[in-house]
Amino acid sequence: MSERGAETEPGARPDPRRRTPRTDVVLGDPRLQAATDRLGRARVKGAVAEALGRVRDGALDPDDVVDHVVAALPASASSLRSVINATGVVVHTNLGRAPLSSAAVDAVVTAAGHTDVELDLLTGRRGPRGRGALAALAAAVPDAGAVHVVNNGAAALALTACALGAGREVVVARGELVEIGDGFRIPELLESVGVRLHEVGTTNRVHPADYEAAIGARTAFVLKVHPSNFRVEGFTSSVPVEGLAALGVPVVADIGSGLLAPHPRLPDEPDAASTLRAGASVVTASGDKLLGGPQCGLVLGDATLVGQVRRFPLARAMRVDKLTLAALEATLAGPVPPVTAALEQRQDDLLRRARRIAEALDPGLAEAVESAGAVGGGGAPGLALPSAAVALPPLLADGLRTGVPPVMGYVTDGRLLLDLLTVPESRDADLVDAVRRATHPGRG
Ligand SMILES: *Cc1c(COP(=O)(O)O)cnc(C)c1O
Repeated sequence: MSERGAETEPGARPDPRRRTPRTDVVLGDPRLQAATDRLGRARVKGAVAEALGRVRDGALDPDDVVDHVVAALPASASSLRSVINATGVVVHTNLGRAPLSSAAVDAVVTAAGHTDVELDLLTGRRGPRGRGALAALAAAVPDAGAVHVVNNGAAALALTACALGAGREVVVARGELVEIGDGFRIPELLESVGVRLHEVGTTNRVHPADYEAAIGARTAFVLKVHPSNFRVEGFTSSVPVEGLAALGVPVVADIGSGLLAPHPRLPDEPDAASTLRAGASVVTASGDKLLGGPQCGLVLGDATLVGQVRRFPLARAMRVDKLTLAALEATLAGPVPPVTAALEQRQDDLLRRARRIAEALDPGLAEAVESAGAVGGGGAPGLALPSAAVALPPLLADGLRTGVPPVMGYVTDGRLLLDLLTVPESRDADLVDAVRRATHPGRG
């Protein structure tokens, strides 16, 4: 500051461009040190170079360089941001499906460093990879003779089909040859790994005799696929796993959502334990839908068949990493994950929270309303989960979605609803702050 005083004469303020600071001097500023720790030196240096270019162009005052760089730099080295899911869709594919429990998050952080994922610390020798996660999964599904984990549900089905059925035939009902989402079609996946589909029945109906007529020397297994994201109503019939198990060939059931045991709120959703007990030889499922864990795929069932799947060479290409194994074990062995907690919410509790939030906002702006949530992610199609929401003017949607933290609600009947089924109560205050900021953008 004294420098400026000494140089400046009335009416003859020096050209600020001549006071352009040196890059290393700017980089030494303590506030940029913190940014360097967070983002790396190259990124911060790039932002400083950009700012100094502006100073030379006369577009930025030299005294504002550090402020400008701090404002221009992102909060973290990853572009993924934490979003408040107020859509009421519990497993929201576009929002990363299942949020992890805090126990699973802790496990991921621990496993992120060097970890004994494949080492027996007692003997110092190589140990079975992910034994803790596999043991937790086996304990959670006692009906399974063996378990295996791969990258995702599609990989679980593809690997199982390939290991048990490559070059042979898989008998499957036409009505179960479904598209799951984003162009992912079960029949194309199966054919791409070299199994031939023998389709039976019609779109709406299939009978045991259809399967019987199709089964022959070339049959590797019968496949049952949970249609997941739609329901067929009216003149329909399908053969349950019990009926398929009586056909004398292995039954592979892709249940989709990864529910391990029956859930009272999801009476029509298949679960691994019941499906195995009904006679399925192998069950495949996702880890990040109703199981509430990390993205992964589960292969559960008959020890001989699951062993064949695990030892099949392609299994190596679908191996899960240590972060997934850590999160899966903590999801299975730890406290109830957020997905399960959301399913257990009571509507009157949610309504009470919605009223409290509405009352904390500008008078007349918000109203607490009853709403209907959904499982999402292809689980329990058509099932409405009784919920409650804060109703707001729809023009707040953009401001909330682009705020920090971003809040995703949904617009229906001319109102923006922030559904609380999928918002942990600990985030209610953040929701109030976010709505206030969206309502009064100027106030910081
Ligand atoms: C979701 C789903 C899959 C795919 O699982 P991903 O984990 O997304 O790969 C496969 N089959 C069914 C029936 C599903 O619902």
